[in-house]
Amino acid sequence: MAPEPIINRLSEWNMPMRKKFLIAGPCSVESEEQMLRTAVQLSAYDVTVIRGGIWKPRTRPGSFEGIGMKGLTWLKQAGKAVGLPVATEAAKPNHVEECLKTGVDILWIGARTTTNPFAVQEIADALRGVDIPVMIKNPMNPDLELWIGAIERINKAGITKIMAVHRGFSTYGEHLYRNQPIWRIPIELRRRLPHLPLICDPSHICGKQRHIMAVAQQAIDFLFDGLMIEVHCAPRAALSDPKQQMTPAQYGKLIGKLHYTSSSPTRLPEAIESLRKEIDAIDGDMIALLAKRMACVRRIGAWKRKQDISLFQPQRWEHILQDRIRSGVRRHLSDSFVRNLFEHIHEEALNIQGRIPAERSRSPRDRKVKAFRG
Ligand code: PEP
Ligand code: MN
Repeated sequence: MAPEPIINRLSEWNMPMRKKFLIAGPCSVESEEQMLRTAVQLSAYDVTVIRGGIWKPRTRPGSFEGIGMKGLTWLKQAGKAVGLPVATEAAKPNHVEECLKTGVDILWIGARTTTNPFAVQEIADALRGVDIPVMIKNPMNPDLELWIGAIERINKAGITKIMAVHRGFSTYGEHLYRNQPIWRIPIELRRRLPHLPLICDPSHICGKQRHIMAVAQQAIDFLFDGLMIEVHCAPRAALSDPKQQMTPAQYGKLIGKLHYTSSSPTRLPEAIESLRKEIDAIDGDMIALLAKRMACVRRIGAWKRKQDISLFQPQRWEHILQDRIRSGVRRHLSDSFVRNLFEHIHEEALNIQGRIPAERSRSPRDRKVKAFRG
């Protein structure tokens, strides 16, 4: 078990910010002019840090792979012009070196890098003895341990200003969002490492500009410490991620529209207290019912073992799934919620049945086979 990482709270970062830690800037630094124009226009709004990607990890070769080293100076100059710190992605030890030489203020580790512990370790080694804040994006796949592992590797190199960035998880096929938010993962991260600053990158979750407001608001409602949003002075002409970037004015509008809630009410009204009690009782009933259901599952499992029939019964499962979804939807539960819930229940049922030892077959044929094998 790795020791608990020692991580600074956001208040110890001494970073001038208003309500939230807000990072904004283009997906990629493209030119000196683009970077400066974006930063100047952004500085009219609430921004804590200016971002810009220098080396771009692209899915397919042949797309714009970043402007490279010369862009670091443009990024830094743009930050200086508006008096704001700048951040960029470092994916390799030489990126770290170049960023440190240019005076980049904050580094981030991209989702593709976090997925690979070898790469994270190389960056951690390059950071040893350096005092710079590092943001760590979640890995591409929904693996909380891998995310925490990357945080620990960077922390062990002596970095204590660490921030996690939730940018969603990649999936196969067409979905509403480019990357699925799977909010329970950053929520669990918060539970496991409560002091770790956590921000959301709704741009990479959404992949399209029109959903960004809703996801940003959700992150604020879930008590995230801030946002990272891709902003470009001319999004349509952007060399990477054009669909998800917004103009500085659109960013300003979005930030202005965010609604902040207070997380700790001093006293709960009686009606809410009683609703919470009702929920506690319902949860207790649900657990008792699930235990009862699994007891039935165990008895059926014993029978299946005795009859030597397969634990998984595809037709029965198809019937359960369709029937429960139909009845859930009738009661205004969402299709995907009921499906996920029953997939978990069914998986657990199969696991329980799988732990029941198979009856030893007594057929004369099997005895012969056994005798033959010795
Ligand atoms: C980015 O922020 O530009 C980026 C490439 O992000 P991610 O690593 O989340 O894909
Ligand atoms: Mn991008």
